[in-house]
Amino acid sequence: MAGRPEILFPLFGDIQRLSGIGPKSAQALAKAGIATPRDLLFTLPHGVINRQSVETIKGLTLPEIVSVEVEILEHRPNRIKTRPYRILVRDAGIDFHLGFFHGRADYLAKTYPVGARRVISGKIEVYDHTAQMMHPDFVVTPDKRADIPASEPVYPLTQGITQRIMRKATDDVLHMIPDFAEWQDPSVLKDRNWPKVSQALEKCHRPEKVLDKVAFDRLAYDELLAHQLTLSIARARHRAQKGQAIQVKGTLAQQVLDALPFKPTDAQRRSFAEIRDDLASTKRMNRLLQGDVGSGKTLVGLVAMLDVAEAGGQSVLMAPTGILARQHFTGLTHMAKPAGVEIILLTGADTGAKRREKLERLKSGDAQIVIGTHAVFSDDVEFQDLRFAIIDEQHRFGVRQRLELGKKGDAVDVMVMSATPIPRSLELAHYGDMDVSILDEKPAGRQPIDTAMVSIGKLDAVVARLRAAIGEGKQAYWVCPLVEESEKADLSAATDRAVALQAALGAGVGLVHGRMSQDEKDAAMASFVAGQTSVLVATTVIEVGVDVPNATIIVIEQAERFGLAQLHQLRGRVGRGADKSACVLLYKNPLGKTAQRRLEAIRETEDGFKLAEVDLAIRGAGDILGTAQAGLPKFRIADLERDMALMQMARDDARLILERDPSLESPRGQALKTLLYLMGADDYIGLLKVG
Ligand code: ADP
Ligand code: MG
Repeated sequence: MAGRPEILFPLFGDIQRLSGIGPKSAQALAKAGIATPRDLLFTLPHGVINRQSVETIKGLTLPEIVSVEVEILEHRPNRIKTRPYRILVRDAGIDFHLGFFHGRADYLAKTYPVGARRVISGKIEVYDHTAQMMHPDFVVTPDKRADIPASEPVYPLTQGITQRIMRKATDDVLHMIPDFAEWQDPSVLKDRNWPKVSQALEKCHRPEKVLDKVAFDRLAYDELLAHQLTLSIARARHRAQKGQAIQVKGTLAQQVLDALPFKPTDAQRRSFAEIRDDLASTKRMNRLLQGDVGSGKTLVGLVAMLDVAEAGGQSVLMAPTGILARQHFTGLTHMAKPAGVEIILLTGADTGAKRREKLERLKSGDAQIVIGTHAVFSDDVEFQDLRFAIIDEQHRFGVRQRLELGKKGDAVDVMVMSATPIPRSLELAHYGDMDVSILDEKPAGRQPIDTAMVSIGKLDAVVARLRAAIGEGKQAYWVCPLVEESEKADLSAATDRAVALQAALGAGVGLVHGRMSQDEKDAAMASFVAGQTSVLVATTVIEVGVDVPNATIIVIEQAERFGLAQLHQLRGRVGRGADKSACVLLYKNPLGKTAQRRLEAIRETEDGFKLAEVDLAIRGAGDILGTAQAGLPKFRIADLERDMALMQMARDDARLILERDPSLESPRGQALKTLLYLMGADDYIGLLKVG
């Protein structure tokens, strides 16, 4: 691999070579994530200053940025340190002041000689009932008036960096742009009227009157295409490592399905088929199974694992928490009974002889399915023939980490099950490398959940209602928030709540929270599942995936402290059986604006995707997946909210490009490689198929 092309060297060189950038400003820029001339090139202005050229400022609505010719009348040095040095000037219609804090008299006398005429440019404001211009941006003799730019870019700034520095430095960077071979499809450029990349950069950095939306789009698209190319390269690489074609018989799965008290939904059937195609092909599976809470993802995973078991391979299902792993274990063992496969549970709680024995069964191949936490991927875990890995509810994985999971076996197929509804644009950014199966249909017979917002002042009424429901044999979750800063206080709040409820309800109340040992948690869950406790007080450890169909009420205390996605997940714990369910959002007044918006959104809809859109609108893209650790890329130009359509286009484009030219060797491919280097995706170029 040749490495970064020479034409890019200057752009990745020392930023201090740019005019106006010394060690200090370089440091300030670095803090804002701008380390190279290239970074500066992709830091675009977000506004434009337009200078009106006028004869007089008389009659203008101030403040206003103007260029105007004046006669210098009089210097009025400041007597008091905190006052500006002022210069009285006269334009064609009125007298006004120029003002200078810390003005140096000798310099000002030279620049503004009394009696001379000058064109000055800057912001005219009203101060103390008179017009004044503080620190003019420009001052020139009348014959040089044309030198004052009519419009200027406004850059996003960081401390220690001024507009002037940015403009000067970007002037230099703009001269460093090499003559790039075009990497975009000419027909796309033509359709969209997109300029060449060098022109687009020029237009964005040096806008006339208004920001150039078209040029901006082109650059955003460059960025998005580079990103989608990296995902596609990773995907192609994953697939190129041959998978094993698995002979799918489906007999075991059918036995299990026949024994279920319900029929799979059409969406589940569709997913079975898509997954079986993947299993049967020699390509490696890299699939996202997306379905809102309660859509029945687990069954889809089970069917696939049974197919693999039937063909003699092993599968692993990885859950994010011990509780969820145990629950999957219990549920799947029960469901899979008719098939007679051996399922084992492996979590961090397994130690010593117990763990060794389990590892032995995996290594020998006696156990066909293992369910666990990330403990299943520790180094000492060996498989006889691992072929299939499912990651449940795990959206905090970067693209790379996900691909690395495949390393436990020769050719492991990977499927991620995600209930976190995310807007399409985010999905593409995060899962753009994957094929997607969607469960867009809930099992039949589910009833809508009644969601109500209730002030904590009415706690007694809520408890009374709970008592009535429990009297009818119903079960309930009671969720208390837990935030890090006040973990101890929250914990005691949860404990107190459990005690108080126990007293008020006279029924069995369980408690589960993150500080408990795995065994304690399991025991609390188990007695709730068995119906021995009627109410389970919990911190958010129940958030993900817990499935107790008899639980029909969920009370969420201090609901205003939860995020929208969390609330949706939590509510998804009820409404899993045929009975009518309720969700009570207990809140404390006064309710902040965004908290209110969140709670109202939850009350209005159960549609996870609608909620995701609301979430995006409230929070912005960066936050939703928890940014960095979620592996979500940081874009400098593109904006996931605004550029959703471009993202979609980039993903299709990227896939097509790699299909036609897998090693990026054609002339356009070469140019695209340069784009990847330009965007700092050097690592991915090494993953390109060779030859
Ligand atoms: P999620 O997609 O949230 O992981 P689960 O897989 O936990 O959902 O399924 C939720 C509940 O729905 C479980 O009790 C499961 O047994 C049940 N279920 C799954 N598929 C169906 C179906 N087709 N009809 C009825 N109930 C179903
Ligand atoms: Mg689930």
